[in-house]
Amino acid sequence: MGFNKNTQLKGSLEEALSYGANTFMFYTGAPQNTNRSNIEDGLTLEAMTKMQEINFDYSKVVVHAPYIINLGNPDKEKFMFSVRFLQEEIHRCEALGINKLVLHPGSHVGNGIDTGLDSVIKGLDMILENTKTNVVILLETMAGKGTELGTDIKQLKYIIDNCKYKDNLGVCLDTCHLNDSGVDLTKFNEYLNLFDKEIGLNRVGCIHINDSKNEINTHKDRHENIGFGTIGFNTLIDIIYNEKLESIPKILETQYVDKDYPPYKYEIEMIRNKEFDKDLINKIKQG
Ligand code: FE
Ligand code: FE
Ligand code: ZN
Repeated sequence: MGFNKNTQLKGSLEEALSYGANTFMFYTGAPQNTNRSNIEDGLTLEAMTKMQEINFDYSKVVVHAPYIINLGNPDKEKFMFSVRFLQEEIHRCEALGINKLVLHPGSHVGNGIDTGLDSVIKGLDMILENTKTNVVILLETMAGKGTELGTDIKQLKYIIDNCKYKDNLGVCLDTCHLNDSGVDLTKFNEYLNLFDKEIGLNRVGCIHINDSKNEINTHKDRHENIGFGTIGFNTLIDIIYNEKLESIPKILETQYVDKDYPPYKYEIEMIRNKEFDKDLINKIKQG
C-alpha cells in the first residue's frame, strides 16, 4: 500500500487493520518515484503504541523500495543514484523501526546478466559498507520481464554468495513472478527444497501472494486477484499454509478491482476460509 504524507505509518496500519490483515507492506512514498517526505516520529510512535496495544507483530511489517532503483545498471550516474536512494531508504526503515526491505534486484539493461549481477553486488556492498544496520534487504524473485535480474535461484544465490554483507540479505518470494519465470507452483515443495539446498530457507523473509494473468514461463509479471488467474486458488492456499513458511509474512499485491475497489479485505477472508468464492469480484465491487 502507499504511504500518505500526512498519516504515514499510522495511516498504513489503519488501512491494513480495515482489511483484517495481521501484517502489511508499504512504500515510503509513491512506488514509481523517489519523492519522499520526512518521517514524522510522532505518527510512527502513535502507530507503534497502537500495535503494542493490539499485539500486532511489528517485526513482520515490510517496506518495498521504489521500482526505479536499479543497482544492475552500470551507468555510473544511474548506479550512484540508486545506491544513494537505497541508502536513504534504509535510514527511513530505521526511523520507522522496520527491518524488512523488499528490493527488485535490478535490470541489466542490455549489458548481460553477469555484468548486471556484479553491478548489483557492488551496489549492495557499497551501501552496506557505509550503513551498519539491522535492516535486511529482501531480493525479490522476478518474472524475467525485459532484462530483469533475480529470475532464478542461481542468480539470487550468486548475489548473496558474493556480497560481503550476507547477514543483511534475504529473499522475497513472489508467486506471480515465480510462475511467470517458469516455476511450476503445483510442485512448490520441490522448489522449496531446491531453494533450501542452494540458498537456505532461513533467508526467506517475505512472500508476495498473487495470482497471475499469464501462463507459466511467459515472463510477463501481471498480477491477478487470488483464485482468478493461472496459478489458481488451491495452489496458492497450499503455499500460504505451507508449514515451512508458517512464520513468514505473506503480502497480497493483487490489483484493485476496476481500479477503484481494494480487494484485500475479501481476499483475506477467502484465504482464512480456505474456500474459493467465484463471486468475489462482485462482492468487492459492492463493498
Ligand atoms: Fe515487488
Ligand atoms: Fe511482488
Ligand atoms: Zn509483480
